[in-house]
Order: sequence, then structure tokens, then C-alpha cells
Amino acid sequence: MGKVYLTGAGPGDIELLTIKALRVVKEADVIIYDRLANPDILKEAKSGCEFVYVGKEDSHHTLPQEEINEVIYQNALKYENVVRLKGGDPFVFGRGGEEGIYLKERGIRFEFIPGITSAIAVPQYAGIPVTHRGITVSFRVVTGHESTHKDHSQIPWENYKTDDTIVFLMGLHRLKHIAQKLIAIGKPKEYPVAVISRGTTKDAKTVVGTLGTIWELAKDLPTPALIVVGEVVKLRDQLNWFEEE
Ligand code: SAH
Repeated sequence: MGKVYLTGAGPGDIELLTIKALRVVKEADVIIYDRLANPDILKEAKSGCEFVYVGKEDSHHTLPQEEINEVIYQNALKYENVVRLKGGDPFVFGRGGEEGIYLKERGIRFEFIPGITSAIAVPQYAGIPVTHRGITVSFRVVTGHESTHKDHSQIPWENYKTDDTIVFLMGLHRLKHIAQKLIAIGKPKEYPVAVISRGTTKDAKTVVGTLGTIWELAKDLPTPALIVVGEVVKLRDQLNWFEEE
């Protein structure tokens, strides 16, 4: 019986992979990877390593999580070193906990390897700090992909009246809805918003607007993309360093 390394692949730029993640990738007998994990990481594997793609689109799950859990488990019965490679960090909307529980219940040993989350690194590459002295004392990372029941929202919008920076993951297709909700709880239409597409990669693109305008400006950006809401967005004027202007 093998051991499973539930491993964060970082947000895109391959150099943001941790040394520990690189080590387990090099030693892996099989790598089970996501759409969001940079595929160049697979080139670091030893020859003979097997690759299993369990990619999921943003909104629809190509493979249901239950099946992914089972794929990981079956591979752990077969191989000694199993790497489950996930975009960003395994615990930030990565369902790493579910995979760990599934393995625990079946007596499979596992380890978590943190990754650099897109929620912090992608804004950083766009010149947007999630906190900044004098501007904001906290930040939130929120799913933009809440399941929609007509009269019930899982997101406690009323809590978001403060000036925390809010980073929405998986929210591009709900951008208009998100902006409207924030305006509805009293944020000004002029409140700054950025949408960052394919952050930390050579295809990175950032669009800056306001709650009132961002939907029109950013609706055609390619995924993966995240949304940053907050006064910190304005710091990009001085801090942008990565993208070609
Ligand atoms: N575990 C991941 C997040 C998984 S949820 C992490 O810690 O980064 C997937 C969402 O992450 C996407 O819908 C998108 O909002 C965001 N995302 C991941 N990589 C991104 C990138 N390179 N650029 C912009 N957004 C990204």
C-alpha cells in the first residue's frame, strides 16, 4: 500500500512550486493532476511515471469528486508514491480535506503539502497587496460559485460591508451578480475592483474597474480568473511589475 501526497502546485508560475512538492513529484510513481496545475510540472517526473488527468471545469465537474477520490485510492493500492497535484493550495477551495478523509477511512497514509494560493499570489503579480497598512487590516477569500437556490444564498453578503479586501475565486461567470450584491449592501458603485486572468503566467491579464463597470469590462476574460474587491486595487498603479503594459 502506498502513500498519497496531497500537493499544492502553486498558482501557475512553475517557479512558485515548493521544494517539497518538487521532491515528491520527482519521486512519484503516478501523478493525478488538475486542470489548474501547470502541466510543465509533469516534466519533472521520473521516466515511467504515470499521469492521470482528473480535470474539472470551473462550473461543471468533468469528474465528480467522489470519482476523483476513488481514482486516488485505487492508485494508492497499486503504487508506492502517489502524488495528487492540485492548483494553488490543497485547502483553499481545493477539496483536499475531502480527499484526505476518503483515504483515512480506507487506511491509506497521506501527507499534505501546502501550495502558494492564487488568492494571494495572483493579485500580488498584478501589483495588488491583499492587505496594506493604512488601507485594510484583513482580507477574505470567498467562493463566487455558490450553489444557487432561488431565495437562499450561502454567501453571507451582509457581513461584507466592512473594508476587508475580498478575493472571489471561481466567480468570473457570476461577476455581474457579485458586483450587484455588493452594491446592494451599500458599497459605492465607484468601489475599486480588479479581475485577473491567468495570473502569474505569461498570459496574465488584469482589468481594473469599479463595482459599476467591471462586469462590462471583464466579462470576456479567459479563465481561470479571480476578482479582487477593495481599495488595495488602486495600489496597482504603483506596484504593478509583472505584466507588460
Ligand atoms: N486551490 C486553488 C483554488 C481552487 S478554486 C488555489 O489555492 O489557488 C479555482 C479558482 O482559483 C479559479 O476559478 C480562479 O478563480 C482561481 N485561480 C486559480 N489559478 C488562477 C490563476 N492563475 N489566475 C487567476 N485565478 C486563478
